Amino acid sequence: MGGFDKVNEALRSLLVADYGEEITNYVFAGYASVRPVTLRVNSLKMTAEEGIIALQTAGFSFETVDWYPYAFIMRGIREEQLWHSTLFEEGKIYLQSLSSMLPPLYLCPKEGESILDMTAAPGGKTTQLAALCGGKALITACERDKNRFQRLLFNLGRQGAGRVTAICKDALSLDDCMSFDKILLDAPCSGSGTVFSEKPARIDAVYVEKCAVLQEKLLKKALKLLKKGGEMIYSTCSVLKRENGDVLTKALKGSGARIEPVEPFDGLPLLPCIEGTVCVMPTELYEGFFLAKIVKE
Ligand code: SAM
Repeated sequence: MGGFDKVNEALRSLLVADYGEEITNYVFAGYASVRPVTLRVNSLKMTAEEGIIALQTAGFSFETVDWYPYAFIMRGIREEQLWHSTLFEEGKIYLQSLSSMLPPLYLCPKEGESILDMTAAPGGKTTQLAALCGGKALITACERDKNRFQRLLFNLGRQGAGRVTAICKDALSLDDCMSFDKILLDAPCSGSGTVFSEKPARIDAVYVEKCAVLQEKLLKKALKLLKKGGEMIYSTCSVLKRENGDVLTKALKGSGARIEPVEPFDGLPLLPCIEGTVCVMPTELYEGFFLAKIVKE
């Protein structure tokens, strides 16, 4: 067993229990690969076509992504190079993994809708939600951690995401008389989808259980805050079933809400998961990620 596998022994056994040895080996190969930087062009400031021209003019080479014209793959470019670009400083681009662009796309925010981003910092998905509806939805972004909340505020400002009400609060204590047309719960998780060789994860069953307990509480709270007929996305950057399918099954039982099946976008590398949901396998291009759409009846 190599050094990396040794450090992540507990995680390996959790993955083997979920997927078996063969798939776990693919997941570990994904962890070991070095992913290129990816970014999202901020449609509040530029169209995708203008983004292409701006990136070319700034001297960057890139690849496009079939399922999202605003996503770009920046092979051979370091994050620092982009941080120092005018495009970044002006909030015209946002560095974001491809997997983490998925939940806002599946939530599909529309003009006039009230939307809660329940655990929002640093705000990659809040700003993407705002961008997807041209800043015309009424978005509430909630974040418990004070320092991360400051980063959320900074990113909202820089990206020009107006009409977002940001609140620094434990989402579990949001007033139950609030109600929303749509909710994004991008839940805190073990991060088992985003492990990479230079950052051994030390994810074990005790930690995963702690995450799952909080996720279930947050999901039940989200279901209370969702209007009848409303839709929500539950997502994590974990590929462990305990944090994904199990949390959904427990929280949805007797709740009057159900999983609304979604189709994975073409080309996504997939892991087996609970029916109707999407679990992205960590690969050379994608972080491991899970998402489910839920409808309250
Ligand atoms: N959606 C964010 C984005 O795309 O930038 C990332 C969210 S991160 C996966 C989860 C966030 O939930 C963390 O910032 C964490 O501080 C926050 N959090 C954890 N428990 C919370 C709670 N009870 N109420 C509100 N926020 C919470």
